[in-house]
Amino acid sequence: MPKETSPYTVLVRDLPVHRKFEVPSTLVGEWVKGLPMRDALGAPDPDPQAGEGVADLDLYADGTHAFAAGTFKGHLMVACSRCVGPVKLNIDETLRVTFMPPGEMPAEDDAEPASDDEGAEVSEGDLDVFPFDGEKIDLEPLFREQFVLSIPYAPLCAEDCKGLCPQCGIDRNTGTCSCEKPIDPRLAALKGLKLPS
Ligand SMILES: [Zn+2]
Ligand SMILES: [Zn+2]
Repeated sequence: MPKETSPYTVLVRDLPVHRKFEVPSTLVGEWVKGLPMRDALGAPDPDPQAGEGVADLDLYADGTHAFAAGTFKGHLMVACSRCVGPVKLNIDETLRVTFMPPGEMPAEDDAEPASDDEGAEVSEGDLDVFPFDGEKIDLEPLFREQFVLSIPYAPLCAEDCKGLCPQCGIDRNTGTCSCEKPIDPRLAALKGLKLPS
């Protein structure tokens, strides 16, 4: 029996081709499972609201490499990093991807140390490369990446989200509580200080 192929696999012999691919919420939920800002949402599993995506791609090959160019649009639901409420992240990316033999892939160790950002002349998006075996390209890792990379370090439902009270846990966006603010000794000291005006 042939191994079940991913719906996002395209045979190189069928190229060039223009195709649309849809990513349903069940798959999106599967892909982002375990990420902190997803788990914090406490969504059901499977989550019909996890998100979705549509890729609209031109796929072509030149003999040893294959290329994908087009757009990826969709959205993903994650938790707000302050109040844990839902945040809808919109995804609207332009894709330019090269599929190359694994032997030609730039080794991760070749990259500059992460702390050394100077000298980076191209954005990461321009250097998207994925391995392929010369016969078929699998777009699933590419699509999965669109969702994972859309999550910011600290997602917010609103710029001014007031978050949860650290003491009683009430959502300060929708309610108030009478918890007293803990006094930061450093701020207490500053209160007696008069700044020149
Ligand atoms: Zn929030
Ligand atoms: Zn409180």
